[in-house]
Amino acid sequence: MEASGSDGRQSITFPLLRGQKALVTGANSGIGKATAIGLGQVGADVVVNYVAGKDAAEEVVREIEDLGVHAYAHEADVSKEDQVVDMVARMVEEFGTIDVMVANAGLQRDAPISDMTLDQWHKVLDVNLSGQFLCAREAAKEFLRRGVVPEVSRSAGKIICMSSVHQIIPWSGHVNYAASKGGVEMLMATLAQELGPHRIRVNAVAPGAIRTPINRSAWDTPEAEAALLRLIPYQRVGDPVDIANAVAVLASDLLDYVVGTTVYVDGGMTLFPGFATGG
Ligand code: NAP
Repeated sequence: MEASGSDGRQSITFPLLRGQKALVTGANSGIGKATAIGLGQVGADVVVNYVAGKDAAEEVVREIEDLGVHAYAHEADVSKEDQVVDMVARMVEEFGTIDVMVANAGLQRDAPISDMTLDQWHKVLDVNLSGQFLCAREAAKEFLRRGVVPEVSRSAGKIICMSSVHQIIPWSGHVNYAASKGGVEMLMATLAQELGPHRIRVNAVAPGAIRTPINRSAWDTPEAEAALLRLIPYQRVGDPVDIANAVAVLASDLLDYVVGTTVYVDGGMTLFPGFATGG
């Protein structure tokens, strides 16, 4: 199964989120796919959002339903307000409510600053940052309307923003992407402060280098992987399931007192590995 690590290790399976309803954006590929399956494995019903890859999304739905929970796929561009509003409204209709929003969808449009077009800048900011704002807003409205249901969870809802180590590590040639993830950090922290009194928990997960299509060129040859490993003290490239596991636990009441935090899941990439032998 895709949601297990390259070492064959399975994700956690006990029902941490039994009876909860989760929506994962960008859930037909990579980290979002593993996360949607991982949330199903711990008992949640899951909406699998995608924008282009319908067949892949339907395959994820089948994999989740095989776990004995409910799932359906929903096409929506997270950067379009009406589509996000409709997506969450349909979820409330079909599943009754939403308990967990994982704002994961993201993309890159890389270029050196002198070549970067305004379209490339806007596209990345629209999807990676405005998309997370829209998803967080629509989820928060439902959390505020419903409040805490103690038999389901100690909190009224959880928002998990998929950030990146590049919310803190500058990344030349990717100014749009790094700026979007820096923005995600402040979006997350500000919403956590604003929504905390309503028992809504907002946090972020910041992956390091994870084997997915978004960064294939960084790991798909031995030379590329060796160069990448120089940036990772733990000396392995991450798997999508590493992120899925963090999201599942962060969304659960096990971490009910974790509010406004970024969980780095990066094999130590943010530990300034260049200083291990110099500085
Ligand atoms: P991926 O495999 O390329 O998946 C990206 C997903 O985002 C796809 O499901 C794609 O859907 C979806 N998407 C793109 N634009 C969208 C839009 N406008 N509306 C809705 N969905 C949209 O990449 P990934 O590595 O899993 O990335 C997932 C998240 O993790 C991103 O936020 C990324 O920045 C973050 N991240 C990844 C890494 C890494 O090393 N992989 C590291 C740090 C952070 P379609 O296939 O339908 O287009």
